[in-house]
Amino acid sequence: MSGNSGPLWQLWRFFAKKLHGLGASAFRMAVEVTDLVVPGQCPGCGAPGDLCSGCRKELRAVPVRFSPRAPVRARAWACGAYAGAHRGIIIAAKERGSHRARELMGMVVLAALRRLVAQGEVMPPSITPIVLVPAPTRRASARQRGGDPITLACAFAARQEPGVVVVPVVRTESSTKDSSELGAQQRRANLSGRIVPIVGVGSKKLSEVRQLCSDATVVLVDDVATTGATAAETELVLASLGVRVDLVVVVARA
Ligand SMILES: [Zn+2]
Repeated sequence: MSGNSGPLWQLWRFFAKKLHGLGASAFRMAVEVTDLVVPGQCPGCGAPGDLCSGCRKELRAVPVRFSPRAPVRARAWACGAYAGAHRGIIIAAKERGSHRARELMGMVVLAALRRLVAQGEVMPPSITPIVLVPAPTRRASARQRGGDPITLACAFAARQEPGVVVVPVVRTESSTKDSSELGAQQRRANLSGRIVPIVGVGSKKLSEVRQLCSDATVVLVDDVATTGATAAETELVLASLGVRVDLVVVVARA
């Protein structure tokens, strides 16, 4: 493609216009486009074929505002409950390393953001850029799964929408335990002090990140929120780096 006026570019602009801010219908269209990519098994429920109509419908649910038990300052939104298709794609992405499921997670997050833009909760990314900050993952578990699903999902979302970028800022130290069996207080204790910046404190990179985020809507993105402990701790760490979180978006709320 050469320049900004070729036929492919015009086609892209046509789709970008169609997709922008249309909420559910944009999501349906985008999902149909990605359907062409990988046939096989429904990532939501395992039925033969690709994403089945039941899961597709579930994944189009309107995002719901929620109040995490942990003290999260930013407004928090869940794309669905941790059940059915939402749970299916999270497990397929995390435990089976499904590329398709990661893309769907990215689409679900993007559809939620588009809807929040349409509702006036978030400025359109064409006016104020949206920075997606993936919630921290343990390095070891990300390696086992062939890459961190949330970062990959955010990257997929960003590729679909001009004005949306992904900026990984934090990770968890490898001594952090898997929190799935822990209660609320234990989760916070497990995470306290263990979410660390990826970018060097005082580095040029950090000042660039801070600058980028100060002029953007900063969205912390995670797969599942149980108590909100990860979001609360991440928010504190980001605040210590001079980065304010405006919004938390999770694929599912447990
Ligand atoms: Zn299904």
